[in-house]
Amino acid sequence: MALTERSGGIIGAIAEATRKLQRRVTKNKEPAITETPREPLRIPRDQHPISRSNLSPGTVKVLYSLKDAGHEAYMVGGGVRDLLAGIKPKDFDIATSAHPDEIRRLFRSCRLVGRRFLIAHVRMGEEILEVTTFRGPITESHERDETGRILSDNVYGTLEQDAFRRDFTINALYYDIRDFSIVDFAGGVEDLRQRSLRLIGDPELRYREDPVRMLRAVRIANKLGFSIAKESAEPIHRLAALLREIPPARLFDEVLKLFLSREAVANLQGLRAYSLFSHLLPLTDEALDAGEPSVEPLIRKALDNTAARIEANQPVTPAFLFAAMLWPAYAKRLEQLERKQGHAPPVAQVQAAEEVIAHQQLRIAIPKRFSIPMREIWALQPRFENRRGARVKRLLSHPRFRAAYDFLLLRGQAGEPGAAELGAWWTKAQTGSFPPVPEEREAEAAEPAEDGAEGVPSEAPQKKRRRRGGRRRRKSGNEAGGNHE
Ligand code: ATP
Ligand code: MG
Repeated sequence: MALTERSGGIIGAIAEATRKLQRRVTKNKEPAITETPREPLRIPRDQHPISRSNLSPGTVKVLYSLKDAGHEAYMVGGGVRDLLAGIKPKDFDIATSAHPDEIRRLFRSCRLVGRRFLIAHVRMGEEILEVTTFRGPITESHERDETGRILSDNVYGTLEQDAFRRDFTINALYYDIRDFSIVDFAGGVEDLRQRSLRLIGDPELRYREDPVRMLRAVRIANKLGFSIAKESAEPIHRLAALLREIPPARLFDEVLKLFLSREAVANLQGLRAYSLFSHLLPLTDEALDAGEPSVEPLIRKALDNTAARIEANQPVTPAFLFAAMLWPAYAKRLEQLERKQGHAPPVAQVQAAEEVIAHQQLRIAIPKRFSIPMREIWALQPRFENRRGARVKRLLSHPRFRAAYDFLLLRGQAGEPGAAELGAWWTKAQTGSFPPVPEEREAEAAEPAEDGAEGVPSEAPQKKRRRRGGRRRRKSGNEAGGNHE
């Protein structure tokens, strides 16, 4: 149960103490680097709702192993925050005084990862726990780039120093395995009560140190239904462009967290409102700004569907998500290449996909295992227009049919002309009944070279493929053939 609901009295009692602490923290613009240790607020076990049974078994085991070996060990971050806010945590992070080599010696299955800062991944049965050594304060010796971003980060510290290195006050709450109390250095308990997401320390400095914190602000606020504190929200517009300094592989991970999420639609709105979205998916941002009637509904429905699938514990794939996000840009470019520049459809499809993806990769590194199926989803779309003879069966048995069909339905729901009717036809076709095909539509349909859509067109030897397509076309005389050389 949420701390805010269950223990209002307790919170009320500690609120004043916390407020004082908070004032001290915010007055002290530079976070963390304290010479004189501060007394944290400690909330004893009987005054908060977190019990060991709320933690995963692996988390409890790792905490005890660290403690028994004489180290300090805490659950920290999203685990404590979400349990106090009454949400089921996604994962549990552990902070400890043990150094990485000490952690490695304690656990048989432990891998050290990370370049900027070593993190131990400890496997406990099915679980992989992230165990981090307390980080030390940021000092002049930390290597930064010209925008203030920290490039190297390998100094270990104390619990208190670790607390002030964290991003938001509510992410800097520690559950102490020794006595099950919660330790609060930064005023996180009070902010939880106020439903406020507040950066620790000077907001601009903290965003400059790591601009990804701007994305985390939007995501975590939406996840909890909190508002971003005024001072923490204010610099975001101004600093949004710092996201360009972040390596595209890291942004890919962050974008997945933002959009493969129940709060995907709210996250999109938040990112747009804070001018962050244009630095992540610039082509999508432009398409939304241009206001074509089907663009916003398409993206919104893709995100809604994703959220519903997550809710129902069904798998979600980034390929489908990116296919939807980038579809408006792809469709626009395809149209330009076909109609205005006179490229044949198969050539135009390959070129449009390549251009759009290359442009996107500058910001977010979409791995091939997602960009390839994404291209297939796009490439299969025109093949739905051909509803005659053997082509129907071939498309129905295509390994990517399901995803491409779902995408067609999405286009229909978004109001793309003709897509809903086409989707309904293919829904019936899957039951084995093939409704009559309206003649003019079929005649109008720009028919792509069929094989161009199988697999990734650009990677296929074009000549050979066309020959095979040609032979097949000759055999099935009732197909609305078309040569698009
Ligand atoms: P969730 O796991 O629900 O996405 P989280 O806050 O636990 O949210 P993690 O990425 O698991 O996010 O990070 C764990 C903790 O590490 C955070 O709660 C925070 O204390 C700290 N942290 C993560 N990213 C940053 C960052 N960019 N700057 C400072 N501290 C961070
Ligand atoms: Mg976490």
